[in-house]
Amino acid sequence: MSPISARTRIVGVVGHPVRHSLSPVIHNAWIEAAGLEAAYLAFAPPEAGFEALVNGLRGQVVLGLNVTLPFKERAAALADRRTNAVERSGAANLLVFGADGSVAADNTDGVGLMGALAEAGGLATPSPVAVLGAGGAARGAVLSLLDAGVTSIRLINRSLERAQAIAALDPRVWAAGWDEAAYALDGVAAVINATSLGMIGQPPLQLSLDRAPATAVVMDMVYRPLKTELLKAAEGRGHPIADGLSMLIAQARPSFEALFGQPPPADVDVRALCEQALGGQE
Ligand code: NDP
Repeated sequence: MSPISARTRIVGVVGHPVRHSLSPVIHNAWIEAAGLEAAYLAFAPPEAGFEALVNGLRGQVVLGLNVTLPFKERAAALADRRTNAVERSGAANLLVFGADGSVAADNTDGVGLMGALAEAGGLATPSPVAVLGAGGAARGAVLSLLDAGVTSIRLINRSLERAQAIAALDPRVWAAGWDEAAYALDGVAAVINATSLGMIGQPPLQLSLDRAPATAVVMDMVYRPLKTELLKAAEGRGHPIADGLSMLIAQARPSFEALFGQPPPADVDVRALCEQALGGQE
């Protein structure tokens, strides 16, 4: 890493908590390989202090911030400009500061999801896709899948009314409760876990994959642990799999490009660096 100086450009991630974030690992590796005079830090303001932090950074005090839980919706709300992805999802994972004091919001989670599915070989058929969850990540996933041409989405969530609220956005989305999850996998091209179930410290994700065709990609947005019980079961049945780390890295690429005006260097194995960091945490 180049020495910190008065010319060092600051970028970072903001969340609460944020100590678990792998974004500094990914971006600092790219910064170093690209020879940029920059540093990527992690900021954890008090929950009530998010807007004060961002407003205090206007005018390129920092170049930009990635945004993680629980601030994605508030980041979208305070920005002066929003991409279509932010307008539709109501959430932002990237804020870019302009020299004129403005803040522009983007959401690259959809790019990350589609990138992870593509790495796993893509969808064998355009539909249907089963999405588990109806929080912010599931909502973004549904919109990206529809944009990518998926013609039917089965959205499964514990709280049926949250799934129904997303289904109301588009007739191609069908909402159901958890008791219908196993049946919803009939003939799917992909199964995507967008709940926090299966994450270390959270309840397990209990789902039989028996009805899913062997060609269906099984994806888990959870990456702690990296190989979740869902992915282990899928691998045992011969499904192509995509993990949450693939998505995280795929969403980081367009963030880096928006921050520095150049794509990240291709020759850095950020996945290996993240796996090493995850190994130290688990
Ligand atoms: P939210 O808090 O908005 O949503 C959580 C979802 O999990 C809801 O659908 C909720 O159901 C469900 N859920 C939580 N606990 C239970 C439970 N005990 N039983 C059944 N369902 C449960 O979180 P996000 O949507 O922002 O994130 C979801 C997951 O995706 C997280 O694990 C997050 O880390 C991951 N993620 C990964 C990314 C990546 O790049 N890999 C990017 C973004 C997110 P209900 O509505 O009923 O409460």
